[in-house]
Amino acid sequence: MQYTSTRDKNVSVTPSEAILTGLAPDGGLFVPETIPSLEKSLDELKDLSYQEVAYEVLKLYLTDYTEAELKDCINKAYDEKFDTELIAPLVKADSTYFLELFHGATIAFKDMALSILPHLLTTAAKKNQADKEIVILAATSGDTGKAAMAGFADVAGTRIIVFYPKDGVSKVQEMQMLTQKGDNVDVVAITGNFDHAQSGVKEMFENQELAAEMAAAGYQFSSANSINIGRLVPQIAYYVYAYAKLLKEEEITLGEPLDVVVPTGNFGNILAAYLAKEMGVPIGKLICASNENKVLYDFFTSGTYDRNRDFILTSSPSMDILISSNLERLLYFVSGNSAQATKGFMEELKQQGSYSVTPEMQAKMADFIGGYATEAQTAEEIKAVYENTGYVMDTHTAVAAYVGDEYRRRHPEANKQLVISTASPFKFVKSVMSAIDNKFADVDEFALLEKLVQVSQTEMPQAIKEIIDAKTLHDIVCAPEKMEATVKEILSV
Ligand SMILES: *Cc1c(COP(=O)(O)O)cnc(C)c1O
Repeated sequence: MQYTSTRDKNVSVTPSEAILTGLAPDGGLFVPETIPSLEKSLDELKDLSYQEVAYEVLKLYLTDYTEAELKDCINKAYDEKFDTELIAPLVKADSTYFLELFHGATIAFKDMALSILPHLLTTAAKKNQADKEIVILAATSGDTGKAAMAGFADVAGTRIIVFYPKDGVSKVQEMQMLTQKGDNVDVVAITGNFDHAQSGVKEMFENQELAAEMAAAGYQFSSANSINIGRLVPQIAYYVYAYAKLLKEEEITLGEPLDVVVPTGNFGNILAAYLAKEMGVPIGKLICASNENKVLYDFFTSGTYDRNRDFILTSSPSMDILISSNLERLLYFVSGNSAQATKGFMEELKQQGSYSVTPEMQAKMADFIGGYATEAQTAEEIKAVYENTGYVMDTHTAVAAYVGDEYRRRHPEANKQLVISTASPFKFVKSVMSAIDNKFADVDEFALLEKLVQVSQTEMPQAIKEIIDAKTLHDIVCAPEKMEATVKEILSV
């Protein structure tokens, strides 16, 4: 299996090269030349562990890794860092299934991919005889940063620098990042929003002069953002796993279509669902849930992507995004693998901030349903589900649950629904508790954590216990246009 670029059909690299470099030299994203099919039937997969299912998926995409290498990466990633052997447990509340992807080290779904990426990357470096220190640059809307730092902390041969929007993350998210230990980790607050952080990082990747300067100093950039194929591929595994487990528990019958509802930001998670469907998992609709930054809702309803609008800070900050990078990969697939067409759209996006796809492309995206929840609807959903079922959701999951419920109100005949639960409510405790009862709106975030333990009748996650008394270790702040200078300063280049 070779990987090509969404913007240049002449690019052809091995899976490990794609993981190592993160982004194609032309600024495009790496995509597999063909989407493989699952080798085992879902009936066979239903008795496998998470690790075994992950292997069945990874081996089809990462064909230049040996079986031993892949299994070693998988076993190092999905171990006791997760607080349940199931890794991704399913919870049923009312008639909805929630796939909880927040049982890893940093209690958000980014752990599903970022606990394995460092191992895939260091293995790729060995395979390709890379002799330079790998510098991971990551832009984060809060969750990627911590998960990437936790994954890469003290991994030999790597350094990591994370950029986050100073006023765009929750208090818990910020504390998690600022207290991260490790000699090779740095975190920088930028005085801008997530899109500034993401564009700044992308510009550094595309800057060939900077790459040469870095190479002379013994460094090579790579990416931990979901533009790296090494993050996307491991995410396919939990869709296969969830379907297989629902089958095992006789909640669904073999072949029964299952709609998935995904709280979406950069479009990585839902793209993994699309790939799982293409590989043979009977997924019905791919319901793409947005918060008030509803650029994707508008795209799926009109065929026009338009980022010319105000950036809104919401209570689901990991979805506060106007440029969903991974949508580029979907455009590539539904344009019939046309790098030329995809490149054109991306140029329009860069120059005018918008583009419109063809009716043929729209028809190929008919399984995608866009929806969104306002801030008030998100809060109401948290409260209603808690009151009706006792289940406490975080704000991101609540956006999806609301959009899923809305869809079923309009389509009573719809398939069963799997809502992707992307963060622990402890991570967004203030918004969650104020939604349940607005008397909590003025209470200190840390004081609310104990209250949430009582309300949700769950234990305080380890990740929260760790930050309560931890020391702040990082304090760099910079303007978005100073990101490159800051990287050079950190690396003494
Ligand atoms: C990153 C994130 C999302 C968005 O996922 P994408 O793959 O970027 O679409 C949703 N919820 C949470 C909690 C996240 O951390």
